[in-house]
Amino acid sequence: MRRQRRTKIVATLGPASSDQTTIERLFVAGTDVFRINMSHTTHEAMRAYVAAIRAIEQRHGRPIGILVDLQGPKLRLDTFKQGGTDLAMGSSFVLDSDPSPGDATRVHLPHPEILSALEPGHRLLIDDGKVLLVVTEATRQRAVTRVEVAGRVSDRKGVSLPDTIVALAALTPKDRSDLEAALDTGVDWIGLSFIQRPEDVSEVKKMTRGRAALLAKIEKPQAVKSLVEILEQSDALMVARGDLGVEMPLERVPGLQKQIIRGARRTGKPVVVATQMLESMITAPVPTRAEVSDVATAIYEGADAIMLSAESASGQYPVEAVETMNRIAEEVERDRGYLTEIEAQHARPEATGADAIAAAARQITETLDLAAILCLTSSGSTALRVARERPKPPIVALSPKLATGRRLALVWGVHCVVTEDAPNIDHMVARACRIAFREGFAKTGQRVIIVAGVPLGTPGATNMVRIAFVGADDAGAD
Ligand code: PEP
Repeated sequence: MRRQRRTKIVATLGPASSDQTTIERLFVAGTDVFRINMSHTTHEAMRAYVAAIRAIEQRHGRPIGILVDLQGPKLRLDTFKQGGTDLAMGSSFVLDSDPSPGDATRVHLPHPEILSALEPGHRLLIDDGKVLLVVTEATRQRAVTRVEVAGRVSDRKGVSLPDTIVALAALTPKDRSDLEAALDTGVDWIGLSFIQRPEDVSEVKKMTRGRAALLAKIEKPQAVKSLVEILEQSDALMVARGDLGVEMPLERVPGLQKQIIRGARRTGKPVVVATQMLESMITAPVPTRAEVSDVATAIYEGADAIMLSAESASGQYPVEAVETMNRIAEEVERDRGYLTEIEAQHARPEATGADAIAAAARQITETLDLAAILCLTSSGSTALRVARERPKPPIVALSPKLATGRRLALVWGVHCVVTEDAPNIDHMVARACRIAFREGFAKTGQRVIIVAGVPLGTPGATNMVRIAFVGADDAGAD
């Protein structure tokens, strides 16, 4: 099965898409990577999703990516005697370490690490920013705040801290247990929520030891400040616009989206744009014009993937939402201005052999009008460097590792075929031509370019380009 677009689609699974038939319909409609959100999923349900996806993958013979998104350190208030209280503008409200239920003057904040990090002037956003408190006095046991935006605060509402670096571990005990379960189940990507520092990513990297790739969700101002360092530690980024729009003014989110996409594209790491992309399709079969335009903008910016959250997890039209994204991506990518816009943000090759080869391959395809770029890739790094070039012809990654194919499902323009390495490069070139023909990327008489690291199977050793003809014999089996 070949997609007619380069931008990938991530669909979140949930109650609206939990049975195998719906998951298969989501895949056929265009989903390249399924997301399992551990904020709402038990280990048992996660394993059932993974089993269903792997069965679909086998039936369709095409690698499918699975992203398990950890909940992360979500901070919350404790409870109130009356379940909640209304806070008036300008009044004083205390957050403290006393676990007794709260009232109109105070509430327990069950995170001592926040109390010790708060300083006068720091903001606390309660319940997705509906109430705003500003700290006026702070000790290790209590913070006195002034109510700047009035509203109701109630039991266990979320707390966001845009100004405070909190000494929280990157993973909560729940995250650790979810991570172990996800790694045991063999998923491909792990999403890290609410990270603040590059060390948050490197700490998890030590635990995963390459068993899954790490996607850092950029949703806190502290993470935006350390974007370059976080990118260095991560395998991919997500513009997590939901929480980003709580902790930062909403009008800054579009600019940050561009900044994060550019940063990721510069390093050649995939970037996903997420949240409220087709929000109205939770309850309606067609999106708004503004939503279509928002999805199109992410595609024109060159994002690797666009994501559905509640639309596919709990909405009434999950399949239609994927079909809609698919149609928008196909149409935008047909636009003559698309590659021009993508090209405008093209990053210069880094001074490595792999980038020099990837850039040369792209230039050769343009000079000779070649049908496809075939990457022989074990770890996926050759395909990633070629995708970073955003070339015009399709990129076909040939890898002996299914795990590589599954990870590459998130990457712009890469169609992955799992195939054993041949005994030598000539056999491998011949096999690549047959696969290009069979998968519909090249016709007899067309030429393709092959990019590889020789000897095959040496990760990161991209050092070869070869132009090859797809001949009449390539119509045979491999
Ligand atoms: C977001 O905040 O945009 C996001 C993707 O994270 P979550 O859905 O886990 O809140």
